[in-house]
Amino acid sequence: MTEQIRSVVTTIIPQAVMEGAGVRLKRSFPSRTLDFLDPFLLFDHFGSDNPADYMAGFPMHPHRGIETVTYMLAGAVSHKDSLGNAGTISTGDVQWMSAGGGILHEEMPQRGETDRMEGFQLWVNLPARLKMMHPRYRGITAEMIPNVVGPDGTVVRVIAGEYNGTRGPAVEIAADPTYLDVSVPAGGAFRQPVQRGHTALAYVFEGAGTFGDSATLTPYRFLVFSDGDAVTARAGAEGLRFLLMTGRPTGDAIVRYGPFVMNTREEILQALADLHDGTFVKGE
Ligand code: MN
Repeated sequence: MTEQIRSVVTTIIPQAVMEGAGVRLKRSFPSRTLDFLDPFLLFDHFGSDNPADYMAGFPMHPHRGIETVTYMLAGAVSHKDSLGNAGTISTGDVQWMSAGGGILHEEMPQRGETDRMEGFQLWVNLPARLKMMHPRYRGITAEMIPNVVGPDGTVVRVIAGEYNGTRGPAVEIAADPTYLDVSVPAGGAFRQPVQRGHTALAYVFEGAGTFGDSATLTPYRFLVFSDGDAVTARAGAEGLRFLLMTGRPTGDAIVRYGPFVMNTREEILQALADLHDGTFVKGE
């Protein structure tokens, strides 16, 4: 069988939204017309040089049934959670947090040397059997993330999954995800095999380039790929930088309500009841 290069089937223009206690960000999904991209549930890009856009942060709030993945490009966010973790994630760091049955946490931006704050948050679904798992927190520092440099100067930061034989530090995740930060120099090319049946998504945030047989794409665009065997990209004259995210769909029904994503309406009502009567955080 000949290898099929995945093509871009949907191009999403992120929409400005206000989240947390008043943080301006660009949301690719969910939206009124797109609830989720199984196994992915949300993709946000926050980025500003004005502290007023982000300093309010995300005070203590719950999550259940999902994993939240925060990747910082610039600035710093301090966090605290009901597992007893506390620390700061800064430039190049990743926080991979599995809320499982219940976690309470806060994510508060810090003033740094500059006013720049930029990063991404991705939500990954947990399959039904793991929705109530014991919460798990992983702080991945920038030094733990391998940088794979190709012969044409392409640099790939491997956060999860594998690129060219190099594995990322975020392992043992139910969705079997790949999460790459790809920088392709002018005229360079990128290719990544993706298992058939797995969802493949990309977010273009610097430069310009093409994916498969697409037209030239520029920031900020969120891309959904067709099924196939590989994702390819080619950079234009100014280079191209994008995130590539892939994962195995759960196939499960999804009922979502804010920070809770479960499989039935009853499970959402249970989460709200647990939060109300103080039994939200499980398994301590
Ligand atoms: Mn959160």
